[in-house]
Amino acid sequence: MFFSYYKKLSTAQKRIYLESDEIHAIPLPDATALHPLIPQLISALEHEDREQIEEICRALARGLTSQLGVPLLRLKVLAVRPVTGSEELHGLYELAEGRASAVITLWMRTAKHRRVVAFRSFLRTLLHEMCHHLDYHLYTLPDSYHTEGFYKRESSLFHQLVPET
Ligand SMILES: [Zn+2]
Repeated sequence: MFFSYYKKLSTAQKRIYLESDEIHAIPLPDATALHPLIPQLISALEHEDREQIEEICRALARGLTSQLGVPLLRLKVLAVRPVTGSEELHGLYELAEGRASAVITLWMRTAKHRRVVAFRSFLRTLLHEMCHHLDYHLYTLPDSYHTEGFYKRESSLFHQLVPET
């Protein structure tokens, strides 16, 4: 299945899209090494501890990038999600520029009720932004599209970090 914007892409962009769509999983060399961070993240979210959440997300990002052999990135966790139009921003990935590394920004509170984001959706957002980073650095794609393959990669990371009980 191709998303509707596929039709509007140029031939070169379609090639990137197809390449992205064909990769379905990102096998981690040692997912279990990262498992201790998961209950820590759940607890930090419960305690609404921004600094702790940020620290754990940075540890996760360090673990993922070093296991996959891609450049480390900067990561920050901010308070309330910004709203643009009717859309609430969950996370943001900014490409590396010059000497500065790439940056992931995550927000820990919903715009509407200022409630702390639920664990699963918070972790999914982190992994989603991480998948953009991996598109550029692990798969060396010239652009990073939301393809079905992209969402499968996001899920593959999630299920390795949070095995179903
Ligand atoms: Zn995205």
